[in-house]
Amino acid sequence: MSEQEQNKVAMVIVAHPDDAEFGAGGTIAAWAREGWDVYYVICTDGAGGGPDNAEDVGPAARRAISETRKREQRAACEVLGVKDAIFLDYPDGQLQPTIELRRGLVRLLRRYRPTRVICQSPDRSWSPTFIIPRFHPDHLAAGQAALAAIYPASQNGWDFPELLEEGLLPHKVGEVYFTGAPVMNYAVDISETFDLKIAALRAHASQLGDRFAELEKMFRTRSAELGAKYGMAYAEEFHRSENQPPGAAAATSTSSPEATQESLAPPRPLAPTRGATTRWREFMIALAFTAIL
Ligand SMILES: [Zn+2]
Repeated sequence: MSEQEQNKVAMVIVAHPDDAEFGAGGTIAAWAREGWDVYYVICTDGAGGGPDNAEDVGPAARRAISETRKREQRAACEVLGVKDAIFLDYPDGQLQPTIELRRGLVRLLRRYRPTRVICQSPDRSWSPTFIIPRFHPDHLAAGQAALAAIYPASQNGWDFPELLEEGLLPHKVGEVYFTGAPVMNYAVDISETFDLKIAALRAHASQLGDRFAELEKMFRTRSAELGAKYGMAYAEEFHRSENQPPGAAAATSTSSPEATQESLAPPRPLAPTRGATTRWREFMIALAFTAIL
C-alpha cells in the first residue's frame, strides 16, 4: 500500500461521456487539486446519446453525436483538471462485460497503474423500490468489466499473459470507489469543488442543454442534503472498498473529510432539444427520487 500511496494516480472507468461528472465530478476535481493525476476511460463511443424521438439514427448521425460528446467530455475534463480521456469506442447501448473489454481495461490499469479507481456499480438496488431509469445496462456492464479487470486480472500475471509480452507488469489497485451502489459507506467533501462539477456538467450541452438550470438546482439540493448527513456543505457519496483479502479490510468506513458521495447512478442523459424526451423525464424522476432516499 505504501508504494501505491506514493502513486497519486486515479482512473475513472465509466460507460458514457458525462457519467463521471454526474457521479463523481466534485471528487475528481478535489483529487486533481490535491495533486492526483486522474485519467478517464470511457468504454462506449457515446453515439446513442441523441433524442429518444430522433428519426435519423443512421451511421452519420451516430458519428456526429459521438464526436460532439467526445468534444464535450474533453471540455469537462479540462474544467476538472483531468489529465486525459481514453475512449474505447464500444457501441453505445450495447456494452457487455466481455473478455475483450476486460483485457482492454487491464492493459490500461497496468499501463497507468492507478492507486484509486472510480467505477459504476455492477449491481442494481431493489431497496426501497426499484427505479427503472436509474440502471442503464451500459453502466452495469462497465462496472462489472472494471471490477473484473481490477481483481484478479490486473494484479495477476497469469491473466492475459499476452500483456506481459507487451511489457505490462501486474498492478494492484488500492481502492475502488463505486458510484450508484446499493450500499454507500463513504463521503467526499466537495464543498470547494461543487461549482467545478456544475461547470463540467455544463460542458455536456448536447445532453443537458436548456434544462440545465433545473438540473443544477436538483444537484445543489441533493449534494447539500448529502453534505448535511456528513457534516459537509456539499458531498458526493460512494461505496468505497480497499483491495485487501477477506478479513483484512476494515469494516464499513465512514465519511472522510475529503470524501464525498453522490449516489446517483445517472441514467442516460437527455437530449436538450426537441422537447422533453422520455429519457429526460425518467432521469429527473430518478434524480428526484434519489434525493429523498
Ligand atoms: Zn451513462
